[in-house]
Amino acid sequence: RRTAAKAAADKTCHMADGTRIEVFANLGSVADAELAMANGAEGSGLLRTEFLFLDRDTAPSVAEQTADYQAIADVLAGRPLIVRLLDIGGDKPAPYLPIPAEENPALGLRGIRVGFAHPQLLEDQIRAILSVKPLGQCRIMVPMIAGVDELRRVRAVLERVQADFDVDQIVELGVMVETPAAAVTADLLAAEADFLSIGTNDLTQYALAMDRGNAAVAGAIDGLHPSVLRMIAETARGASRHGRWTGVCGGLASDPLAVPILVGLGVTELSATPAIVPEIKALVSSLTLEAARAHAAAALTCATAAEVRALAREFTA
Ligand code: PEP
Ligand code: MG
Repeated sequence: RRTAAKAAADKTCHMADGTRIEVFANLGSVADAELAMANGAEGSGLLRTEFLFLDRDTAPSVAEQTADYQAIADVLAGRPLIVRLLDIGGDKPAPYLPIPAEENPALGLRGIRVGFAHPQLLEDQIRAILSVKPLGQCRIMVPMIAGVDELRRVRAVLERVQADFDVDQIVELGVMVETPAAAVTADLLAAEADFLSIGTNDLTQYALAMDRGNAAVAGAIDGLHPSVLRMIAETARGASRHGRWTGVCGGLASDPLAVPILVGLGVTELSATPAIVPEIKALVSSLTLEAARAHAAAALTCATAAEVRALAREFTA
């Protein structure tokens, strides 16, 4: 297994029948990017930009942000870098962002809602991303989208900021699917977004109404719950109706039991933790799309997450 994983590390990932699946890495720092490259990641499907904003007294300037994004883009050496707009909220406070205490931070001001509450912050971040060279390397991804209206608001800001740049190329703008609202309206989002990437951590938390940070319920949270699988299927269907790709950047993309199901449901990009990239690439390369589809169809008939896991263990054995 180790040798196979190493051999696959440098290659573009294809399934056994030739179907292209992109295996990317989730990043939160330059060190992550270095590890991802050493492990053969084909790009980054999620740069968590929070690292730049927390533990400081003032918001990072456009120049500071640009320098940090550029450093990561440079390590990726031209490979795609999907930069997620700031995703902080009541549970991750920054001193310079006065978000009042909330009873339900997970349902409050977080993700893109913070950007709308602090428009200068949103505009500055977009300006910094657009300043990275080459521009074509970066794509922008919006967290915690609940509907098309929010995507339109971000696109309007993007177009306004981009007008200040001397470029013809329009930067791709995608959405994270991490609310049930986004999953069940994926076709509507896909009509206006360039790509959809499922954040299975939050999608599962909101589908099951179980706080991922609450130890009393966190142990019962499993992204292979039938409700989540149905929403992933619905998302991929909605995206493909408009010729858009669907990725997964939540924890399921790093779970070898989940990966064959995801691919079988129509996911074509997996963004995993850097350390597990070689294993995910080797696993995907060993599968055919036909077998993955049959397996996913069987998984969709399971009644519980435990049943899905048992089936997945049998499949990968
Ligand atoms: C997710 O919710 O699955 C995700 C990738 O975002 P985060 O874990 O940063 O909330
Ligand atoms: Mg999330």
